[in-house]
Amino acid sequence: ARTTIKPLAYPLDQDNMVLFANLDRIDPMSLDDYRAKGGYEGLKKAVTSMSQVDAINEVKTAGVRGRGGAGFPAGLKWSFTQPSPIIPKYIVCNADEGEPGTIKDRYIMEGDPHRVLEGMALAGYAVGASHGYIYVRGEYYLSMLRLQNAIDQAMQNGCLGKNIFGSDFSFTIEVQSGGGAYVCGEETALIESIEGKRGNPRVKPPFPGQVGVWGKPSIVNNVETLSSIPMIISKGGEWYKAKGTEDATGTKIFQVVGHVNQPGVIEADLGMTVRELIDRYGGGIRGGKKFKACQTGGASFGFITEDQLDTPMEYKAMGAIEGALGSGTMLVMDEDTCIVDVVKCILYFFQHESCGFCLPCRRGTRILYDLICKIADGRGEEADLDKMIKVAQVMADSANCALAMSPIFFIKTTIERYRDDYLAHLNGTCPLCKK
Ligand code: NAD
Repeated sequence: ARTTIKPLAYPLDQDNMVLFANLDRIDPMSLDDYRAKGGYEGLKKAVTSMSQVDAINEVKTAGVRGRGGAGFPAGLKWSFTQPSPIIPKYIVCNADEGEPGTIKDRYIMEGDPHRVLEGMALAGYAVGASHGYIYVRGEYYLSMLRLQNAIDQAMQNGCLGKNIFGSDFSFTIEVQSGGGAYVCGEETALIESIEGKRGNPRVKPPFPGQVGVWGKPSIVNNVETLSSIPMIISKGGEWYKAKGTEDATGTKIFQVVGHVNQPGVIEADLGMTVRELIDRYGGGIRGGKKFKACQTGGASFGFITEDQLDTPMEYKAMGAIEGALGSGTMLVMDEDTCIVDVVKCILYFFQHESCGFCLPCRRGTRILYDLICKIADGRGEEADLDKMIKVAQVMADSANCALAMSPIFFIKTTIERYRDDYLAHLNGTCPLCKK
């Protein structure tokens, strides 16, 4: 029972990888295989020879930032929670991978599930938590199956459970299935869902690090972030930091999707350019067509143009072109793509997935969708473009969670960079949609 999915390529020496080191090399159902590759050595090292603060400092030295999309420094997040005297504390692994085009966490969970568990246990040790939840996207049935199998094996063999590796540290993990709502990937909605409630995002602050699951301090980290931790602890923060760039240390899983010859995922050093990802690993644009646009970071961020493709995929550089590293997904569109049609599709998604809890998002996503439909149908006017930017900005400034903060990025960048596509629709002359 090997992993059913393979990366496109291994741009790095696989022995030296952080996340995909075992992919397609071990049986993901076998604890012995994981341990034969050095698995649980990081956890053993931490619980037998490191203090909580040592472990956090190692993660700080590594400089690893949140890989779900927001990029918050992981070590810093842990350092806020570790000193809290409130117990119990919880570790929550966010595996509710819902960003369109984002499929990276599934590779780790299906291909190397013990790595996720070891990362969670290490986070638990560092902050003093004794229980972890892994909240998995409901459609990821195989991920849940392999994670549960891994938990059972780790419990039976002393890698999880009471007095791990003979230390005072005890840690257990349970798998929880998501129910299909995009918003439940938002950390506080996810916490509500774990508690059995409707997944409405809470008001932040307080951040989960202070008030999380069951009102207790909780660390919420993405699968990829937590899966980076075992190597950081076993090989050291400096080893990790030597990969990537100064702004974005380490490696990242990138996804290239859309109109490329080979859509898929790779693990590579941060700092690879978007062009290299598309041409070298994605195999270039499908059918020999020309490149038109790339939505960066997932469905939540800006579109970039051909002359921006040499931008390195790191936080500052991507931000400077109003794109984003986000979850590492690059959605590629060829010359036959109507940008208005794409934006309509994304806005349909956002209005459908709005939880309706706060007014700016509930009404704003609907207003934006109505406006884009009007424009796409040739009933719009140029003033509607400004109206879309204004509505999206109000949403970004006033909504409760990140869902409603997203449209401004792709609305603004598409209206500025692909205005001709909008104007063609306003004139009823879009050659791509024939309307
Ligand atoms: P955020 O910037 O509000 O927070 C990021 C993390 O840092 C959170 O865990 C938050 O609790 C913590 N944090 C921020 N400020 C803090 C502080 N002062 N003290 C303590 N902790 C603090 O972003 P977010 O709402 O968690 O995430 C939004 C991102 O999620 C988007 O940028 C998008 O890329 C991404 N996303 C990912 C997926 C996916 O499937 N991977 C799906 C949807 C959205």
